Amino acid sequence: MHEIETGRFGLDGGAMFGIVPKPLWEQELPADERNRITLAARCLLLEGRDRLILIDNGVGAPLSEKFADIYALDREHSELHRSLEAAGHDAGDVTDVILTHLHFDHCGGTTHRDENGDWQLTFEHADHHVQRKHWEWARTSNPKEQASFRSENLDPLADSGTVEFVDGREEILHGIEALPIYGHTEAQQMVKISDDDDTLVFVADLLPTTHHLRAAWMMAYDVRPMRTIEEKADFLDKAERADWSLFFEHDPDTAVADLQRTEHGVELAHPRSLEQG
Ligand SMILES: [Zn+2]
Repeated sequence: MHEIETGRFGLDGGAMFGIVPKPLWEQELPADERNRITLAARCLLLEGRDRLILIDNGVGAPLSEKFADIYALDREHSELHRSLEAAGHDAGDVTDVILTHLHFDHCGGTTHRDENGDWQLTFEHADHHVQRKHWEWARTSNPKEQASFRSENLDPLADSGTVEFVDGREEILHGIEALPIYGHTEAQQMVKISDDDDTLVFVADLLPTTHHLRAAWMMAYDVRPMRTIEEKADFLDKAERADWSLFFEHDPDTAVADLQRTEHGVELAHPRSLEQG
């Protein structure tokens, strides 16, 4: 199992924390002069049983200079292909890509421009596992998520015939289960990875960073905010009881953490990198 850092990017701090006043969230994650906070696009690579599985794939190559500027794309820090290489693999080795949802900061690496400027699949030998309801939602889109669903990512995927639909809570591959949630967008799937001893959940945009555990600390991007509050409370309670570890995709500092129950509720424990176990 490897962390695959695909590059840093920036999103508006206000949008990332919804109704939380800036003096509070800024103490946790400082903003730049354009009010953006730096986020990771950290993916997970799973090796085993003749499969190489990648969960999400980051923002990908910038669509334009303007796009790179708006989102403060930083691929100096890290980049998808360099990270795969450091883990001993390349994109052609990946057999399965599990996409938690189709916002560009999760699936932007799915496609890239070839030398003729045409968009091509990056993982040419992979199946792409997506929740069916989310696929249908993204293909019709809506004004709130218009900037998040990019045709450059989705059209080549639709044409490729490599989308494997996942229906609700089901096993995607052996030991890997989809946990669908509906607050951030329609049918996002968290990914629960279990072996004999441990369970790790890739929590995607239910908890984009470790600073999103408190009920009201949630993104303005969510399409159903009250649903997120319920799903977050329910998940944190369940995860703490079951001793699941959490994998954070966007937290700039922490990849993995556990949970503990205190008088203040369920809180973070033992933040670490994947390599530290
Ligand atoms: Zn999202």
